[in-house]
Amino acid sequence: MQDGTATDAPGFSEAEQALLARYLTNTDRRVFALRNLPEVVKGALFSRYSRTEKSLRRVLLDEFLSNPAAGIAPEPGGSDDLVDVARGEDFYERVLVGYGDDSVAELAGAHIAVEQVSNLAAKALEDSRIGISPLEKSTRYVRFDRRGSDGLFPYHRGPELAHPAYLPAMDALFSAYSEMVAPLIENVREAHPKEAGETERAWKSATRAKALDLLRGLLPASTLTNLGLYGNGRAFEYLLTKLAASDLPECRDLAGEMHAELEQVIPAFVRRALDDRYGAPAAAYMATARSRAAGLAPRQDSSLPVPAGVRLVDFDTDAERRVVAAALFPYSDLPLDDLQGLDLDVEAVMRALMEERANRRHRAPRALEQTHYTFEITANFGAYRDLQRHRMLSQQRQLLGTSLGYDVPAELTAYGMAEAFHSAVEQAAGAHKILEDALGPTLAQYSVPLAFRLRWYFQASLREVYHLCELRSGREGHPDYRHVAQEMFRRVREVHPRLVAHARFVDLGLGDQLARRASERRIDRKLTELAGSTSPSRGPLAERST
Ligand SMILES: Cc1cc2nc3c(=O)[nH]c(=O)nc-3n(C[C@H](O)[C@H](O)[C@H](O)COP(=O)(O)OP(=O)(O)OC[C@H]3O[C@@H](n4cnc5c(N)ncnc54)[C@H](O)[C@@H]3O)c2cc1C
Repeated sequence: MQDGTATDAPGFSEAEQALLARYLTNTDRRVFALRNLPEVVKGALFSRYSRTEKSLRRVLLDEFLSNPAAGIAPEPGGSDDLVDVARGEDFYERVLVGYGDDSVAELAGAHIAVEQVSNLAAKALEDSRIGISPLEKSTRYVRFDRRGSDGLFPYHRGPELAHPAYLPAMDALFSAYSEMVAPLIENVREAHPKEAGETERAWKSATRAKALDLLRGLLPASTLTNLGLYGNGRAFEYLLTKLAASDLPECRDLAGEMHAELEQVIPAFVRRALDDRYGAPAAAYMATARSRAAGLAPRQDSSLPVPAGVRLVDFDTDAERRVVAAALFPYSDLPLDDLQGLDLDVEAVMRALMEERANRRHRAPRALEQTHYTFEITANFGAYRDLQRHRMLSQQRQLLGTSLGYDVPAELTAYGMAEAFHSAVEQAAGAHKILEDALGPTLAQYSVPLAFRLRWYFQASLREVYHLCELRSGREGHPDYRHVAQEMFRRVREVHPRLVAHARFVDLGLGDQLARRASERRIDRKLTELAGSTSPSRGPLAERST
């Protein structure tokens, strides 16, 4: 086996080898990948590992390919097979039931596209820690004022929002965005002329991104977006149940719509998500717990606008001992608590762990997960929208409203557009108040522009602090979340300077005014390399974020 050859390879007939070759990347080595098989088959096949002595190739031949109940109809020489999942449903059910543990549903995944959903729903769809990987339309690279084929601005208009104040308020925000965007792009271009050696593409892209960054605060939370989610069956099952429990009708509708599509590709893995036996009672439990906790939560009658900021609410006073002991534990033969009790050289250990880090992708080691920080963050919804995407931490937010005030990008004043921004946002705040009284604070969130602040907490390990602060303080990022990342880092440095001494890739600088300029130049270099020419052309890469 040292040469990578599998023991069962000689046991296959030529016909079997030909068949296997269609589904596996090789028929004789100990490492191989599955291909041309639907997700349900891959999941069911892997689940057999825990219950059989046979090799996977033998299982595939004996139990799946030669079994009509599996719904696979291999035709040698034919094109890739499609399993008749409906026909094979009982078969897969039996295989998976035989496995008996929920984790089998992690063995198959699906890509699902979800389009034309509000930013609020997008946040709910992206609110998973493990097993779901989302990618969403950017507010920086995509203009949001394009009217749909119906001639309407792109915002959520569910029947739950039927109120005379809603549509005019949303139209007013989109009109303001729409009227300001072209002149602002021109102003930004005048202020940041094309530099020598910069391509037209890079300059236009960087200046446009700047203008869209400055204006995105006008977009309401109802703004429609598109996203793609890749996830495993187990994560989807939980996500669907959570969506079904949501207090937003839009999310509850999405639970049903997504379930219907996932049932077509990974039915065995999402069957329970909404059913009467498991899913529905789980969703009911979540909804009940939410409303009971809400009934107990103290509230203040009115709150004053608060400045955006990051507070360190909680941290371990013995963090250094914990981290250093955990760092040495694998190389010691002492119990962990004995190591924690020793007077170890913190700086020497931290140097040993991280002095050699050459860039932010050289990850801080796992020992840094031994200590946690709880941050309470007050920042605008735009910054929240971006930072919420971090999964290696615990987070919860309060309702989005207008009472904590809003942010106006300082540069808009220089471009003479701050007044128009203020006026659109103030008008939206008035409409929000009316909708809050009429529809309640949960639904009224749809009407709130991204410029308004909300409060949320992050509880993150020191390792995630390194990751998030280094990634999100980068100059190419949006200034609003850069500021939050920088502040998080400063709060930790105030209490544990020795523990963050090696977070060298946190950028505490102000950044230049055209954040995307350097990134766009990098993209040009990549395009040039790819094209093997000196004149980068427009293409998919040119449109991507980094
Ligand atoms: C400049 C910039 C532009 C961006 N543009 C967009 C955009 O246009 N559209 C968009 O949707 N998002 C965009 N993002 C968000 C980005 O895609 C990430 O969702 C976000 O930065 C969270 O980062 P993370 O996954 O590294 O962090 P975390 O979720 O905090 O995870 C920390 C680390 O854990 C590991 N990890 C966590 N989950 C998984 C997993 N499921 N599989 C494998 N490894 C995992 C990874 O190593 C990861 O780096 C942008 C981010 C930046 C910084």
